[in-house]
Amino acid sequence: MNVAVVLYTSDLRLHDHPPLRAALSSSGQVVPLFVRDPAVAAPPNRLAFLADCLAGLDAGLRSRGGRLVVRSGDPVAATMAVVREADADEVHMAAGVSAYAHAREERLREALEAEGRRFHVHDAVITAVAPGAVTPTGSGADHFAVFTPYHRHWSEHPLRAAAPAPRAVPVPDAIHSEPLPERAAVTGTSPGLAPGGEPEARRLLARWLRSGIERYAETHDDLAGDATSRLSPHLHFGTLSPTEAVHRARAAGGPGPGGPGAEAFVRQLCWRDFHHQVLAARPAAAAADYRDRGDRWRTGPAAEEEIRAWKEGRTGYPVVDAAMRQLAHEGWMHNRGRLLVASFLTKTLYVDWRVGARHFMDLLVDGDLANNQLNWQWAAGTGTDTRPNRVLNPVRQGLRYDPDGGYVHRWVPELAGLPAPRVHEPWRLPGLERAAYDYPDPVVGLADGLDRFRRGRDAGQGSE
Ligand code: FAD
Repeated sequence: MNVAVVLYTSDLRLHDHPPLRAALSSSGQVVPLFVRDPAVAAPPNRLAFLADCLAGLDAGLRSRGGRLVVRSGDPVAATMAVVREADADEVHMAAGVSAYAHAREERLREALEAEGRRFHVHDAVITAVAPGAVTPTGSGADHFAVFTPYHRHWSEHPLRAAAPAPRAVPVPDAIHSEPLPERAAVTGTSPGLAPGGEPEARRLLARWLRSGIERYAETHDDLAGDATSRLSPHLHFGTLSPTEAVHRARAAGGPGPGGPGAEAFVRQLCWRDFHHQVLAARPAAAAADYRDRGDRWRTGPAAEEEIRAWKEGRTGYPVVDAAMRQLAHEGWMHNRGRLLVASFLTKTLYVDWRVGARHFMDLLVDGDLANNQLNWQWAAGTGTDTRPNRVLNPVRQGLRYDPDGGYVHRWVPELAGLPAPRVHEPWRLPGLERAAYDYPDPVVGLADGLDRFRRGRDAGQGSE
């Protein structure tokens, strides 16, 4: 009987999974394989979430007569070992976007072809629209650098229909699996970390479509309201198909199919694809400025102390500190929080975006090379933002997106007794009242911060 191997990476699901469907249609038996690769070992929050995802995938396969095979080591060597043990004719996997993923695909292709075996890399599994599937017309460019025209083309691009999960997945008995990693064995996770796995992703999506998406257009920036989908870790690990999410959102989101809530939500899914197509075309943007602005980022002891205060949520700016404490507690942060803490680090403290991106990658359960690095670059003005010198004022952001102070009160309990709008500027309280709150003064004044940024960026740009 023909055997195919399906190599899972960031696509840990059974629903709408083209590699698995293709393998099942060409072969009588399939080996669903996940390789624990030490080169991409995740920090605790993502490791714990991954354990849930693998357990969910294994359970889903077992209920269809199969199981998940887990191995450790170099993904090419481990996959080739399984291929030979199963004498598989072909391997299927989802196309990745990072330089590492591209190199992994190339190495695997060479190893398989050297033995006369077939390799199928499937597009549009990790994203709804594959990187490179839409490109700027007439310019010869290989990707879009500006979101608005990308969004227009992306919206018109036909999507395949979302496929159901297969009914049965026959897996050969003889293929050995290492034990699945256990979430409980992972130490150092955030106390409020969400559960992972495909069943959880589907439950969350169904709830979101029933009672969240409709008001998304008005509420997505409301920090205290916490009214976004929280699907990002599921999209990152692929327990939810972005194609299915787009189709189902377009069919929901009232009033009437494709209402404003659905439209706004689908637009965010498009942002996800946008960053993926940038990274796929410019893999170096994971570490290097996409657009070099000649920045001379601050370093040295004073900057180090400010970075520490930023990471620990004690900058003296309540909405910044609230967001950083949410990150530490949940391994997740509201998008508006991400925007304003990233602007604060890169523009007000004038610290290199890579410092912030690394800290986010250490903690975020949805930490994703494309979304994280390119959003950081967007905030720092070294990426695709068409207004690279825009600075978000944390006081105005707090007043606008946390008008009642509920978000600050939740995450900065020292200020819980201080009502809005004063909670966003505690340093303005008169002496005695100020002394009642055990909360730090601002690490830097906003005018001084702005001045540092302008001088640093002007100096760098002037010297080019
Ligand atoms: P919703 O508002 O419900 O949006 C739905 C989905 O759209 C999200 O799950 C996500 O997949 C996608 N999405 C939304 N906004 C963006 C965006 N700006 N860019 C790309 N995709 C988006 N998102 C990650 O998934 N991983 C990251 O590592 C990450 N790092 C970020 C770092 C910074 C500095 C900033 C400003 C944003 C970052 N984002 C990242 C994007 C965004 O903040 C999160 O996707 C979003 O907050 C997740 O919450 P949600 O699922 O409730 O989003």
